[in-house]
Amino acid sequence: MENNFDLGIIGGGPAGYSAAIRAAQKGLKVVLFEKSAMGGVCLNKGCIPTKTILHCSDLYKNLKKAEKFGISTGEISYNYEKVFNRKNEIVEKLQKSLTKLVQSHGVQITQAYAKVIEAEKIEANGNIYQCKNIILATGSQPMQIKGLETDGTYILNSDDVLNLDKLPENILIIGSGAIGVEWARIFNAFDKTVTVVELADRLLPAADIDVSKRLDRLFKKSKIKFYTDCKADKIENKQVILSNGQVLSPDIVLCAAGREPVIPQGIEFEKEGRFVKVNDNFQTNYTNIYAIGDLNGKLQLAHSAVHQAIAVVDYIIDKKSVHFDKNNIPSVIYGNPEIAWTGKTEEMLAGTDYKVSIFPVAALGKAFADDETDGLVKVLSVNNRIAGAHIICPEASSLIHQFVLMIDNELKTDDILKTVFAHPTYSEAVFESILGLDGKSLSLPPVKL
Ligand SMILES: Cc1cc2nc3c(=O)[nH]c(=O)nc-3n(C[C@H](O)[C@H](O)[C@H](O)COP(=O)(O)OP(=O)(O)OC[C@H]3O[C@@H](n4cnc5c(N)ncnc54)[C@H](O)[C@@H]3O)c2cc1C
Repeated sequence: MENNFDLGIIGGGPAGYSAAIRAAQKGLKVVLFEKSAMGGVCLNKGCIPTKTILHCSDLYKNLKKAEKFGISTGEISYNYEKVFNRKNEIVEKLQKSLTKLVQSHGVQITQAYAKVIEAEKIEANGNIYQCKNIILATGSQPMQIKGLETDGTYILNSDDVLNLDKLPENILIIGSGAIGVEWARIFNAFDKTVTVVELADRLLPAADIDVSKRLDRLFKKSKIKFYTDCKADKIENKQVILSNGQVLSPDIVLCAAGREPVIPQGIEFEKEGRFVKVNDNFQTNYTNIYAIGDLNGKLQLAHSAVHQAIAVVDYIIDKKSVHFDKNNIPSVIYGNPEIAWTGKTEEMLAGTDYKVSIFPVAALGKAFADDETDGLVKVLSVNNRIAGAHIICPEASSLIHQFVLMIDNELKTDDILKTVFAHPTYSEAVFESILGLDGKSLSLPPVKL
């Protein structure tokens, strides 16, 4: 039978296409179903378009500071329509090259909505595909919040905001998670008035408390207004009523809170909350059907989806148990300066005997050279091994991987300190923060432990 495959994958986002390539590399006959555009949320509505726009807003912001560095530029301005078009061009280019890449590995891409009708049968375009194993990688979508239902024109979600080809002057953002903070930084860098409303008692509640505090300071410095411990209760006639009694009249509202899984139609899968329930090897209640990426609700990050994809394909082929340590998957918030963390926070280590060290990047020559002195590297250790790291400073998105490696490989701090870190770099803050666990940072005055 022609429609006979070793593996059927539903969803062409980072989880689906990574699984498809890995499986094809290992000799499986693979079919991948995608109902809209290859690349999923990450390429079309998430990581790539937002970071493309963010890069432009950062560039504009930095160019405005050029005089301070002795560089004359004349008047600096931007044309958002061009920023918008560039974003679309990049997404389109990457979509095409991704499709070619996946096909080059011999994967059959079927452009269609797919549903699982039996444990080994997928239906799409009226055809039946017999698949020994199935990976569900159907991702997630913005969630509607009662009272704050998005309408695509005044109340926008993270998809709608990418369709704006002109920027409004006054924006209210609901939620200060990764999406809320990144958009607050984009609008602010483009000289717009931004207010953020956060339900928790601090900005970026998933981050370590010291990182949240530093972000608080940076928001105030950049004149991004925010209310914590606060809820947008109601939106009526373009007025937003906040739980603290304030009434705001923004030009648009960006609802940046909450995503829900996209569950394929067909046979029923057991759930955990709203998400598809999986065991440690990402198997659903059907042993030959796996659910990876945003769909299982473990972590809504593209690199987590890719990691799960590789691990699950290796499990299908070699029955090699999946290694997935949710605690040591880096989280990154982009913008200026970047924020990144991995491992445990102090709150998570409460009750354990742990050490903490905070190294301010203002103690680095590199930070002065770049005029980027507002940041820190905070590290936590237990039994002379790194337990967590929390960074807010330039290049945090790259620096964090040094800590991910240390944690994954359970390196001893003494051994890490045998490594030489180049000067002048922000990586010196990694080295210095680890020295600081014993009060021995070279670039800081003596501390009493
Ligand atoms: C604004 C924003 C910014 C983000 N920035 C980052 C970032 O900087 N870094 C990061 O790591 N993560 C980021 N993310 C999260 C990241 O995009 C997701 O974690 C990632 O895309 C999840 O990958 P996935 O493959 O599980 O699902 P998705 O990317 O959602 O892909 C699922 C695919 O399945 C398809 N599909 C669904 N149902 C069917 C069906 N029945 N038949 C056929 N096809 C189907 C969909 O069309 C979609 O293409 C961001 C998200 C958003 C919204």
